[in-house]
Formats: sequence, structure tokens, C-alpha cells
Amino acid sequence: MKVVLENLTKRFPNRNRKGDDVIAVNNFNFEIPDGKLIGLLGPSGCGKSTCLSLICGLQRPSEGKIFFGDEDVTDLPPENRGVGMVFQNYALYPHLTVRQNIVFPLENLKGDQKMTKQAMEAKAMEAAKLVQIEPFMDRRPSELSGGQQQRVAIARALVKTPRVLLLDEPLSNLDARLRLQTREEIRRIQTETKVTTIFVTHDQEEAMSISDMIIVMKLGVIQQIGKPQEVYDDPVNLFVAKFLGTPPINVFTGTVKGEKLYIDGSQVLDVPGVSDQEVYVGIRPEGFILHDQGSFQVRFGAVEVMGRDISIVSYSDASENPTIRSIIDSSNKVEPEGGIIRFALKPEKVHLFSKETEERIRVTRNR
Ligand code: ADP
Ligand code: MG
Repeated sequence: MKVVLENLTKRFPNRNRKGDDVIAVNNFNFEIPDGKLIGLLGPSGCGKSTCLSLICGLQRPSEGKIFFGDEDVTDLPPENRGVGMVFQNYALYPHLTVRQNIVFPLENLKGDQKMTKQAMEAKAMEAAKLVQIEPFMDRRPSELSGGQQQRVAIARALVKTPRVLLLDEPLSNLDARLRLQTREEIRRIQTETKVTTIFVTHDQEEAMSISDMIIVMKLGVIQQIGKPQEVYDDPVNLFVAKFLGTPPINVFTGTVKGEKLYIDGSQVLDVPGVSDQEVYVGIRPEGFILHDQGSFQVRFGAVEVMGRDISIVSYSDASENPTIRSIIDSSNKVEPEGGIIRFALKPEKVHLFSKETEERIRVTRNR
């Protein structure tokens, strides 16, 4: 089921009645294709949960419309939308068993949707199998680990075969290893059920790793929509560039003069098509090449071995971050001379941004 948002906006009155309204979701327009997993990504407070509650019907938009397929669901109550929702804190009923928790949404069905006990049982078992929780059907939530509880919550959201599955930071309460495992599980379940899914997270790695498409937002405004790799390789502004990637992109102040880029007074790259101006220069950690004639000079700090790769920590007065991180193949020898190391730069890993607007400045390559 495709999901279409049209001019979707949600305003909240400012709590202390002074100042402007908070625009939690600001004029969203996008279409989620049928059967895809979309990562809705942004820092805390940017409006992710509000967007999900609008789609699921727990809140009404101030403006705009929501469609599931061709059906306008903007005025439908949540129970008639056919959505499954999973929250960060699982929200299971503590006094009910796993089985009873999963069956619960089916028991309230009315009219011709009403199910027999056996049919409900069969549906619950099917959902439990899908999330691999069937050995624990008679336990209570308190007798399960966090990861298992979250599986029950997912089974409960799936039991009515929703048209759309909404997951709001479903992994936040899990420890690091379980987070990794559970996110792969979610991807598997989504691929098996082919249910259109929106996965909300503030963790860029999580969103990048399992999403068909990511939507990056900031302060209620969509910044960029695209495949994870495309957004990483081709960010539209400095915010998106900084938000994606670990270690994060290295940001420097630089100057463009005569289609050459200067950092710290050294000419480091040709930037054809860019007019003379002050810029922010974003260099991905993998954009550095150790080179004894390299024109980009930094003060050497330390080498951190990471197995396949090594990470070089260095410093520069032109750096916006306290340290510069570059990731290079471990076959390289790092030999600073007089405390200085020299890099050449991979042009496709270097992005320029306007100092005023922080918007991307495009370089005309292959001219
Ligand atoms: P996120 O899920 O990305 O952390 P939220 O959607 O929860 O962000 O919140 C977005 C913004 O809307 C925040 O500034 C938050 O304070 C505000 N907000 C959310 N819910 C309400 C509400 N019920 N009343 C007033 N402001 C709210
Ligand atoms: Mg939230």
C-alpha cells in the first residue's frame, strides 16, 4: 500500500503562549512506494513522532492530507486505517501473556471482521512465528528480555495484517548487540511480509543500514529524500552531510579563488565552476590519501588501528571539529615528518557548502 502525504503540516501552540507556534511537521510532500521500508531520520525534537502519529491517526493535521493508496484517510480514526504501530517502550500489557498480548487487537474486531477463537489463535501463532517468539507464548512480558518484548510488540502490530507498519524508535531501549540483531530482524520481517513500513530513528547508521529510502529532517522540515548511499554521497546541505556517516564528515573553512580551493593557505583541489567565495569544505574520512607530496597538510595526532583500516587523528586550525579523522587502508605506513602529515584528496569525497546558507555548492566535474 503506497502512502502519500500532501502538504501535511502540524502546528502546536507555544506552551507559554508567547512566541510563535511550534511547527512540528512543516508542509510534508512525499510518496512512499508500496512495500518499501522508509527510514525517517533526524535529531530528537525534529518532528518524527508527530509525523508518525499523523499517519496513524492519533493526531489530526493542521493542514494537508494523507492517502493510503488512492484512499484519503485524513479523517479516518486510527482503528479504521489498518496501521500497526510499535513504540520505543514496547507498551505491552504486563498482566497478559505473550499470546494474550498478540491476540488483543483481534478481540476488538466488530461485525463481519469478528473472528472465532481458533482463527485468532492461528493468526497469533502466525505472527509469533514471523518474529520467532513462539516458544514464549505463555510467559508474561516481565519474563522476557527487552529484545523479546520488542518482538512481541512487533507481532502484535502485525497480527491484523496492517496496510502500513509504523515503528517509532523501536530499538532505542535495547543494548548495542541486540539493536544490531533486531534491526536485521525487522528488515527480514518487512521483506517477508512486504508491508509498507516507516521506521523512525535518530540513529543514522540504523536508518542507512535497513532502509530502501531515507528521509532526513530538521526542525519539522524535510531536508533530503533518497536512497541511503545517494544521500550520503550527494548531500544537499551541510546539515545532511554532517548527520550521515561515522566517523562524521570533517568540516573545514576554506576559500575558493580562481576555481581553486584553498584550506589553511594551501591549494588543495581544483573546483571548476565555483565562483570566488568563502566556503565550508566537508571531507569524508575515506576521502584522504596519504601522499608525501600531498598539498593538504595537517598536524599529526595519533593512529588508531581498526583491523582492516586505520584511523588517523590529526589537527588543523582550519578544522571546525576539534579533531580530523581520516580512514585509510591498513597497508599504508603513517610516517609524519616534523609532526606533519600530507594528504591528497579524493575529489568525489570533498563537498563544498555556502558559508552563508550552508547549501551545497556544485563543482562542475568532467568539464
Ligand atoms: P521527535 O519525535 O523527532 O523527537 P516530536 O515529533 O516528538 O519530535 O516533536 C517535534 C516538536 O513538536 C518538538 O518541538 C516538540 O516539543 C513539539 N511537540 C510534540 N508534541 C507536542 C504537543 N502535544 N504539544 C506541543 N508541542 C509538541
Ligand atoms: Mg520521537
